[in-house]
Amino acid sequence: MPGIQKVTVLGTGVLGSQIAYQAAFHGFDVTAYDIDDVAVRAGRARMEHLAGVYVTDNVAGATTVTTTRALEGIRYSSDLKDAVSGADLVIEAVPENLGIKRALYEQLAAVAPAQAIFATNSSTLLPSDLKGFTGRPNQFLALHYANNVWRQNTAEIMGTSDTDPAVYQAVVDFAQRSGLVPIELKKEKAGYVLNSLLVPLLDAAAGLLLEGVADVETIDKTWRIATGAPVGPFQIYDVVGLTTAYNVAAASPEQTSQAWAAYLKTNYIDKGKLGTSTGEGFYTY
Ligand code: NAD
Repeated sequence: MPGIQKVTVLGTGVLGSQIAYQAAFHGFDVTAYDIDDVAVRAGRARMEHLAGVYVTDNVAGATTVTTTRALEGIRYSSDLKDAVSGADLVIEAVPENLGIKRALYEQLAAVAPAQAIFATNSSTLLPSDLKGFTGRPNQFLALHYANNVWRQNTAEIMGTSDTDPAVYQAVVDFAQRSGLVPIELKKEKAGYVLNSLLVPLLDAAAGLLLEGVADVETIDKTWRIATGAPVGPFQIYDVVGLTTAYNVAAASPEQTSQAWAAYLKTNYIDKGKLGTSTGEGFYTY
């Protein structure tokens, strides 16, 4: 199978803009697609911001020249057929909603070139939930980026039982060539590797706090000192964002999750303390 060179990213929100910019920065021929011109302009503004971040964060090889060149190389479109024309790889990063993703894959299946591999960046849906809408289950898999892809540069790669091993390998190679560390999953798993480890840690930290066993600083300090980890679970909550933590907890019927959602709402969300993004969460920044 020839290597991937032409990449189209569907959705230019938080993750889609990062995925598109990271690929462009590493020399891929990138097209960014969103639903209309307003959304495309917002995506473009996110990527302009990222060009500056790559320089200030000292990403290897990032200068004003290289980051501007990457930015100027990205093509934008709000026409799906035009956006995927000639694509080797189409990465989908649209909202985490089965209905939206289904409708998009059904349209995509009709207009994408036969050789194109499709990859979903979904955090919570399994590729098996989506493969039936793609028209090409053997050329479909999950390629899951972490937020702040230029720093937290894991790429979790997870196929279904239908995914062609050559397609899987082509995406592993793409991840490597776009400055990511491929994390190869051998089978489907909700939460991939990262969230399978992280979510229980965060849940346990919430439980310790709610039960009054220890305070935020003590829980974090324990984790840092005893494991050598650079940050504790509440520092991670602040980076993830307390709105996301609240939404996840509120959506669960479990009593402890409901109590955690209520705690976050009263003490943080309602006070505008949403984590590092607002300068205050469990800690002040
Ligand atoms: P977001 O809401 O920031 O962005 C979604 C984008 O998709 C928006 O620009 C929106 O205009 C666009 N969109 C909506 N409908 C569309 C359609 N039919 N066609 C094309 N574009 C459409 O969402 P996000 O946080 O970037 O999440 C996107 C995906 O990435 C989700 O599947 C999510 O699970 C996954 N993800 C998110 C994170 C994260 O930290 N935010 C991390 C890893 C994976």
